[in-house]
Amino acid sequence: MATPADDLATAAGMLQKARRLVAFTGAGVSAESGIPTFRDGTGLWETFPPETFAQWDGLVHTALAHPAQLADFLLAVLEPIAVAEPNAAHRALAALERSVPTAVVTQNVDGLHQAAGSTEVREVHGSFLEVVTLKGRLVCRLDRAELRMVVDRLRRVRVGPAKLPRILLALRGLAGPTLHGLTRPNVVLFGEQLAEPDWALAQEDVLGCDVMLVVGTSAEVWPAAELPHLARRNGARLIVVDPGHPGPGGIWIRGPAGQVLPELLRRAFGEAMF
Ligand code: NAD
Repeated sequence: MATPADDLATAAGMLQKARRLVAFTGAGVSAESGIPTFRDGTGLWETFPPETFAQWDGLVHTALAHPAQLADFLLAVLEPIAVAEPNAAHRALAALERSVPTAVVTQNVDGLHQAAGSTEVREVHGSFLEVVTLKGRLVCRLDRAELRMVVDRLRRVRVGPAKLPRILLALRGLAGPTLHGLTRPNVVLFGEQLAEPDWALAQEDVLGCDVMLVVGTSAEVWPAAELPHLARRNGARLIVVDPGHPGPGGIWIRGPAGQVLPELLRRAFGEAMF
């Protein structure tokens, strides 16, 4: 039976031989940056069920009937992203580009892969740092300081009675009426199409890779969760890095991404990686 050390050595060998890599990441890769995952015990969905908070119908109903709950949900989602910085896992994936052509296909909406220096990033569920029209046309990109301003305003809303007009005012810059029409953050809710062109590019990347690193995802959100299966069917080998989920097959290296990925890269490419 292979030991964890054997698996790490095998995975390092796979990275050394890889011609083209895809890193497929989920909420777990940002957990060590202080952004909670949705499904773990402490996850957001425990407090804010996705049937209500990840769908337009539920959000609109909450806005009208329970505005304070909407403000709490927005704060719970936006605040960790607004103050987050890339962690060792994001930095390791960015460093990987120096040794192997690497595309990062992420389900995350926090912009941390780009902040760490990854240059080919497909955000298949969009990003809270982008503002789009209701038809999906990009209006502007925000930086984290601008997101923090929205969070600060939402915090002030929560001090008094959280009436809907005050919440909408607090969200200005991120959502609401503008010269371009109504705007919203560019994040994909349940039942919506995945973000384009990133989704099409992600599928091309997956079909072109010979090794896929699957990092910090329960791989339960479809159709994104199809990508590791597509990679395997196309002959790619999988390395899963996750403390709790074995993922969709391949070698499973159990542990937090911020520890495992730097160690894996050091083994594959030496200390000079960092
Ligand atoms: P998930 O919450 O379903 O699963 C998280 C996975 O991360 C689990 O397998 C867990 O074991 C693992 N994990 C926890 N800590 C880890 C660590 N330190 N290192 C590595 N792995 C760790 O996440 P998902 O599969 O990405 O699906 C949730 C959906 O919610 C995604 O589609 C995403 O859009 C969204 N989301 C995004 C963020 C973000 O942008 N940071 C955060 C939460 C959820």
